[in-house]
Amino acid sequence: MIVADRKPIQEILDMLGDCEKLLIVGCNACVAICMAGGEKEVSELASLIKIAKKKQGKTIKITEQVTERQCEEEFVKEIESEIKAHDKILSMACGVGVQLIAKMYEKKLVYPALNTKFMGLPEEQGQWAETCAGCGDCRLADFGGVCPVARCSKNLLNGPCGGSVDGKCEVDPDNIECAWQLIFDRMKMLKQVDKLLKIEPAKSWKTSRDGGPRKVIKEDVRL
Ligand code: SF4
Ligand code: SF4
Repeated sequence: MIVADRKPIQEILDMLGDCEKLLIVGCNACVAICMAGGEKEVSELASLIKIAKKKQGKTIKITEQVTERQCEEEFVKEIESEIKAHDKILSMACGVGVQLIAKMYEKKLVYPALNTKFMGLPEEQGQWAETCAGCGDCRLADFGGVCPVARCSKNLLNGPCGGSVDGKCEVDPDNIECAWQLIFDRMKMLKQVDKLLKIEPAKSWKTSRDGGPRKVIKEDVRL
């Protein structure tokens, strides 16, 4: 899923300025699952903004909405009447959802309430970890299903780097497991360690962001 985190309240207040009427739009997909922009978080943020405004001796009228998926036009259209009734919209979707509303309603001011972080997995209650960097050329089959691109701090395809201690990454031993220890352990279990002896050529990043913004085009389903 796409993992995101809410911006600090002061940053959100600074973005909104002297706003007196606001629409907050959450999303029921990834950001709801990672507890950043679902119905509950929309309601919490609305309360925080109202309290902050009250402390400043000001008032604000806030309408709350949650789309099923804010990255698809058909779901955004379901709340079109509310969007049209507001000049300022605070989106609690990932950056994709924010940009879709901005694209569909170009005269509206659309602000991001979240910082979109990465594609990842939940590790435990309240904790998510980056697991895929969307490199465009998936190599998980060669590394026992553990991604060295996203999970090794140095993106090494020929690891480990030599800095791993007790299975922890030298970049941040308290928080990061050494991806290459995980790869080795899994390949050993699968009896495929010999595959790791092969020297990997330098990775081509042209399928990644280095080639500019990417597109996926499926000719068979185009109209
Ligand atoms: S190899 Fe690339 S596509 Fe596959 S999980 Fe890693 S970053 Fe994602
Ligand atoms: S310690 Fe492991 S995860 Fe960290 S940079 Fe080195 S090989 Fe990569």
